[in-house]
Amino acid sequence: MSALIEFDAVCKYYQMGDTLVKAADHVSFKINKGEFVAIVGQSGSGKSTLLRCLNMLETPSTGEINYHGTDITSKNVNVPEYRSKVGMVFQNFNLFNNMTALKNCTVGQVKVLKKSKEEAEKKALYYLEKVGMAPYINAKPKQLSGGQKQRVAIARSLVNNPKVLLLDEPLGALDLQLRRTMQLELKRLQKKLGITFIYVTHDQEEAINMSDRIVVMNQGQFEQIGTPDEIYNHPKTSYVATFVGNANILKGKVVEINGSYAQVQIGNDTVSVYTEEIVKVGEQLTLAVRSENILLDEAEMENVVEQNEAEGTGRHLHATVKEKNFAAGQLRVLLALSDGTELTASRFGMNANIQPGQQIKWYFDPRNAIVVDREFKTKEPADMSGGNQ
Ligand code: ADP
Ligand code: MG
Repeated sequence: MSALIEFDAVCKYYQMGDTLVKAADHVSFKINKGEFVAIVGQSGSGKSTLLRCLNMLETPSTGEINYHGTDITSKNVNVPEYRSKVGMVFQNFNLFNNMTALKNCTVGQVKVLKKSKEEAEKKALYYLEKVGMAPYINAKPKQLSGGQKQRVAIARSLVNNPKVLLLDEPLGALDLQLRRTMQLELKRLQKKLGITFIYVTHDQEEAINMSDRIVVMNQGQFEQIGTPDEIYNHPKTSYVATFVGNANILKGKVVEINGSYAQVQIGNDTVSVYTEEIVKVGEQLTLAVRSENILLDEAEMENVVEQNEAEGTGRHLHATVKEKNFAAGQLRVLLALSDGTELTASRFGMNANIQPGQQIKWYFDPRNAIVVDREFKTKEPADMSGGNQ
């Protein structure tokens, strides 16, 4: 399948005085027709920059963006025609305050695309009805709630029958309850219309709930694209593992390999890690282990250790309990390793036996430690002795 949209080594740099801000730095990924793709990352990670480049509000410093095989960063693109295919919904709605909901949805069609008033109104009424705004067509934005304004903005973006809709934190201004309702409605609408949605959010749960695939951005850099399951269960980088899965990051050295099990030394302890990656003895590994997979319960732990002992892989690790707190039915225990590394273990239910200051054994199933940051490692020069200029 050839991709509908392709970012190819897209860079967008801003010169701010003496500093070069790399809002997007060699970003490459592809989006297929009909997909719901979320772009997630912290504030300032370059999400809006990518959308603005895709909507031709910005031009990349270098790199290409292909839409249906045409490079939209080249000079000979018909911008109004392109924008009628690739619509955009902004976080602050951008509605005309002096116009009714209906007029907001017809004005662009009449003024820019030169459609007749009748034709424009027919389209507008169709989509206003689809988003549940039929009773409010004569209301002006100040008479509408945040959620209602958002619906008008979405209807307005749909009247040109776009092939792609770009949404920049479209639910950011709404309260949690309404966000949840609108998340479901938007997803249903997208599936019903069969349009490609590219949806920017800083909220990883929103991205997981709504998307077919997720793009994770970090400080202008592309980290990973994948289904929610791939991103959550198979993160490729420590950033993805911590941002999306709230994982702990551990560093250790491979001391022995038995088939798919690598024995990894972390501090003074050695543990087993199951990995399909080819690792070498002596190699430094970065591991992501989610807090719910760190086991402190002695009985449960003995069980898992015993099971794995048969394969010669069962081992305990040691730590000191630094803190514990209980919230939303979950106990969270902060542990410190001998080298000062801190990690969090979580579980449902209380455990009165765990007390701050205490020495504790902990463990994880070898399959619950994910080797991350490998591509980045192999890119590092093997010999650093020349130093950095
Ligand atoms: P996000 O949408 O993920 O919060 P943005 O794409 O808006 O991030 O911004 C990425 C980075 O680029 C930020 O550091 C931001 O300050 C910077 N940036 C964005 N637009 C401009 C601009 N017009 N001029 C200078 N810097 C900008
Ligand atoms: Mg933004």
